[in-house]
This record gives sequence, C-alpha cells and structure tokens, in this order.
Amino acid sequence: MFATSGKGDRLKINVSKIPEGGMDIRFERDGSWFRGLLPEAAPSDFVPDRIDVACTVRRMKENVFIEGTAATTVEALCGRCLEMTRQPVNASFKYTFTPPPAQAKEEWELTAEDLDFAYYEEDTINLDALIFEQVMLHMPIKPLCTESCKGLCPHCGIDLNAASCLCQAETFDERLAALKQFKVQPEKQ
Ligand SMILES: [Zn+2]
Ligand SMILES: [Zn+2]
Repeated sequence: MFATSGKGDRLKINVSKIPEGGMDIRFERDGSWFRGLLPEAAPSDFVPDRIDVACTVRRMKENVFIEGTAATTVEALCGRCLEMTRQPVNASFKYTFTPPPAQAKEEWELTAEDLDFAYYEEDTINLDALIFEQVMLHMPIKPLCTESCKGLCPHCGIDLNAASCLCQAETFDERLAALKQFKVQPEKQ
C-alpha cells in the first residue's frame, strides 16, 4: 500500500518501481491545483472542490494498467434558472500504458478515441495529468439544479421555482383572441 496526500507536487509513477502485486494509491487535489492546469484563457465556469482519487496500479512486464475513480463536486450555474448549484463529478477510468514503439513519432500519434490507451515515456506516468483529463471529461455539460427545475419565465424572467406569473395564461388568451378574429370565409362557387 502506497499512500500520499502530497499537494502541489506532480504525482508521478516510476514504472520500474511498481511492485509485483501492484499498488493502491489514494490522494487528493484541490481546486487551485485544477485551475493551475487550465490554460490562461479558459473560462472559469467550473471550479471543482477537493478531488478524491483512488486507484490501483498494476504492471505486466512493461505494460501498466491503472484503474480508479476521481470524485468531486463543481460549482456551476443551472442552465435553466441560473442559480449557482453544486454538481457531482464522478469519473471512473481504466487506462493501459505501454512504452512507445520504436517507430517515428508520427506513426503512433494517438487520436481522441484512444484516451484510455496511452504511452509513457522515460519510465514515468504522470497521474496528475490523468486525473485532470478525467475531471475535464466528466464535467457536467448541461448542469441543472434539479431535474425538475422550471427555469425562468421567458416573458417576465421570474424564477418559476420560487414564484408563478400569468405570462403563459396571457399568451394563451392572446392567441385565442387572435383566433376568434380570424373568420373563415365560406368558399364561393
Ligand atoms: Zn435551476
Ligand atoms: Zn412570466
């Protein structure tokens, strides 16, 4: 059992030091660590809380298998009512790492579909990069405060979760009134 709660330091695994029976790793990262890995220009919509990571690392010859979970919550605006909400982020992942083949770099460039398969270099796997990637991948795309959030009234902007308005009824009445004015002319033959 190998445990660390190191902050700041990049957590790297030396492949040749992975014990025969594999190892369990638990660590945590905070929101500022996450922000530090985002590009400068990235929107700051999502700021995760403490990220709890638990994973198992196993090695078969030079191949490394990493399986684990990363759990946190992020603050995000509800897409319907614009209230600030906390959204759970639960990533479970499985990666296979192998040393790069001897060919030229172009031939083993990975595509987006190969996210769970990666090469390691210089006997090192960067766990921080892996966790960052997983949290990014599992960010809520359309955050909602609740599944049943009623959102804002498109006419008057009132939060329909907290209050009600007459906009919809009025709109309906207007349509009905317009319909009543519309008289179908009998066809003349
Ligand atoms: Zn909402
Ligand atoms: Zn309204």
